[in-house]
Formats: sequence, structure tokens, C-alpha cells
Amino acid sequence: MIAIIGGGVIGTMAAYYLNRAGWRVTVLDKGTIGGGCSHGNCGYICPSHVLPLAAPGALTSTLKTLFAKNSPLKVRPGFALKNLGWFLNFARKCNRGSMLTAAVGIRALLDSSRRLYDELLEAENLDVEWDTYGLLFVFQTSKAFEHYAETDHLLSGTFARPARRYDAEALQKLEPALKPGSVAGGYLYDCDAQLRPDKLMSELRKLLIGRGVTFVEQAAMTGFIAEGGKATAVSTTKGDFPADVFLVATGAWTPQLQKHLGGKVPIIPGKGYSITLKRPDVCPTYPMIFEEHRVAVSPFASGFRIGSTMEFAGYDDSLNRSRLRLLRDGASHYLRDTDTPAFEEWWGWRPMTYDGLPIIDRSRLHANVLIAAGHGMLGLSMATGTGKLVRELLTGESPHVDPRPYSAGRF
Ligand SMILES: Cc1cc2nc3c(=O)[nH]c(=O)nc-3n(C[C@H](O)[C@H](O)[C@H](O)COP(=O)(O)OP(=O)(O)OC[C@H]3O[C@@H](n4cnc5c(N)ncnc54)[C@H](O)[C@@H]3O)c2cc1C
Repeated sequence: MIAIIGGGVIGTMAAYYLNRAGWRVTVLDKGTIGGGCSHGNCGYICPSHVLPLAAPGALTSTLKTLFAKNSPLKVRPGFALKNLGWFLNFARKCNRGSMLTAAVGIRALLDSSRRLYDELLEAENLDVEWDTYGLLFVFQTSKAFEHYAETDHLLSGTFARPARRYDAEALQKLEPALKPGSVAGGYLYDCDAQLRPDKLMSELRKLLIGRGVTFVEQAAMTGFIAEGGKATAVSTTKGDFPADVFLVATGAWTPQLQKHLGGKVPIIPGKGYSITLKRPDVCPTYPMIFEEHRVAVSPFASGFRIGSTMEFAGYDDSLNRSRLRLLRDGASHYLRDTDTPAFEEWWGWRPMTYDGLPIIDRSRLHANVLIAAGHGMLGLSMATGTGKLVRELLTGESPHVDPRPYSAGRF
């Protein structure tokens, strides 16, 4: 029997793979299942994103945006000072060698997850608005478009991630929702897909309840009861839950549980926003990232989402309307129509490690506690692979991806 703490996409997907292997599973969440960062994200399943944020040039571009008005990236100085170690480590990783090393671990989970999503959706009847148009990286200026050719070369050559290149005219033909004359060109990654993340969470929950998984909401973990180096129960605000094995999948909140896990958990919250609108009359077909404005759009069958921005400001749970405006304004530079009514305004905390790799490993304190957290900007894209790897690590099956890049001992 396993108790999973954290009912985001990582914990719930682990529940799916463990339940299929015959485990009795209870998922506990301090809020609602799927109510954290897994709710309102952009929905991309994107193997194109093999390169971590910590890359050559990231520091210079970060510093430039810090002083720019309305920058999609914000760092609160007090928070940076308090977490200086994290930011210094991030800076240390901004070189080609570290970037390529991290990319190998990122790629393994992205690729396995992409395949496993196909399997999952074939095996289960989940209504998640799945589409496989790919993901378009769109550039406003020729300079940025030409500059991206270097990254495209690296992605296609070293990581076997070829893209189709479109000049302005061809791109406009491919995606008529783009404003004429607004773009210099783009790259299409066919390998990527999209789904509606909140629907994935509700569909998974429904499926798993039907298969005997127990979900307990409003149960915040406060510690473990342990005996002989092993946890015997997880203590929560709704009482103690005994189990043989425990999985901590608490996303950006994981450092708050550090003293119950042992070792370092260098995860900080990277706040992002999204706004979900009624589909405009001229709605894009393709999910797109507008590179210069760092804004992403997701055309779902049931709505149209604009998302992104990254704020390092700690556990700040306010909804900043000016950040939401930035999203709509950013998209309006590229799209004919972004002026439809909003269904939902949302923010979420991405669980950010400084090297861009998640932690999927045993706790230092208790041999029967596993951690799966820190998936940063790619938790949805890595969820199926993570869920399967968690099952393999717990059952002693040979892992389908090399788990070493995700070791907790690397910090
Ligand atoms: C704007 C935005 C866009 C994004 N777009 C994409 C995208 O297109 N593709 C992609 O792959 N990723 C995307 N991401 C990232 C992705 O959303 C996250 O990586 C992912 O949701 C993390 O999942 P998780 O399960 O680790 O965390 P969460 O979904 O946050 O789940 C953690 C859960 O743990 C619970 N919890 C915390 N502490 C406790 C406790 N003490 N006791 C019990 N429960 C606890 C919380 O309530 C929460 O429900 C985006 C993120 C943002 C903000």
C-alpha cells in the first residue's frame, strides 16, 4: 500500500501507474486534487523543450529583462537575497557543458513521456482535448528568427529534434490567425502535442476512483511517524494515514517539507499566469510560443488560453492583474483577435530546480519514502515518464530511463 502526498499531475500519474501494477493507493492533498500548478498551465506536451533555462547567455538576457518595464521575467530582490545559493548555482550552470548534461536527463523523460501519453490515451478513454498539430515557435524580428537557427541546429543535430522552418509568408499561410506583417518567421516542432490540463486531472481522478484509488482532499502533510529508519504513517491535518511506502509529490511546496525528507531540496516557486478566453472567431489552429514576448497560446476545443511569465517572488499568492494584461497585450502583437471574454484568470507556482532536472529519488531520512518533485516548466510533459519511473523504482523493475540524472544526491 502506498500513500502519495500531493495530487498534482506528478502524484496522480504515479497513482495511475502504481494502480495498474496492482498497488492499493491513497492520494492526499492539502487543497484539491489538480488544484495546484497542474490546473491552468499551457497544456503542452513538448519534447522540443530539451534545453534547460540555465544556458549560455541566460544570465545576460535575464539581467536585461530585470530592468525592463513589463518584463515577462521578474525577480524580487529580497527573495533573491534569501535564496542566493539557488541563484548562484543557477548562474554556475549557465554554460554549454552543464546545459548539454542537463538536456540528456530532460530528453529522456520528455521522450518517454511523449510515447507514454500516446499509450495512455489509447488505453483509456480520457476526454482531454488532445491534439497533435505540434508547437510553433514564432519570431517577430528577423534578428531573433535568424539567431534561433543556431538552437535549431543544436536541437536537430545533437538531440534529433528536427523542426520545419517557415519564412514570414509561409508562416502566415500555415497559420492565418497571425496578423499579416506581424512576424518574421517560425519553426514548427511536429513532435509536440497539446491537451487541456485541468481536464486531464479531472479525467484521471474519475478513472482512478473507478479503479479503487482513494483521494483525500484538504489533508496537509505535517510529518511522518517513523520506526527503525522507515516511515509507518504520514501525519496530516486530517489524521494519520499508515502505508508501506510513501511518495512525496508536492511540487513547489516540497522545500517546506525538507526537514521530513532529509538532504537538500533546492526548489523555488517560479510563478506563472494564464488567462483562458472564449475562443476568438479567428482562433489559431497551432499552439504557439511568441518568442520575443515570451507568451504562449493554447487553442483548446473548449477555449483559448494565453499563458507564461516567470516571477521569482516567493510564495506570493496574489493574482496580479498587470501580469495578466501583459499576456493579452503580448499575444495581441501577433494575433488578429485576442479580445474575447475571459473564463478564468489563474496563477501557479512552477517547482523550479536550478539545473532544470526534477528530483526522483529516495529520501535521505526514510528508506521507504520517495520524492518526485521539481519538474519546473515541464511537469505535464514529464508526468507519464515520471509516474512509470516511480513505479519501477518502488517495485525493483529495471527502470525504462536512467534515473541517475534525477538523484537527490546531486545537490
Ligand atoms: C503558466 C504556466 C504554464 C505552464 N505550461 C506548461 C506546459 O505547457 N507544459 C508543461 O509540461 N508544463 C507546464 N507548466 C509547468 C507545470 O504546470 C508544472 O511543472 C506541473 O504542474 C507540476 O506538477 P506537480 O504535480 O509537481 O505540482 P502541483 O500541480 O503544484 O501539485 C502539487 C500538489 O501538492 C499539494 N501539496 C503541497 N504541499 C502539501 C502538503 N504539505 N500536504 C499535502 N499536499 C500538499 C498541493 O496542494 C498541490 O496540489 C506550466 C506552468 C505554469 C505556471
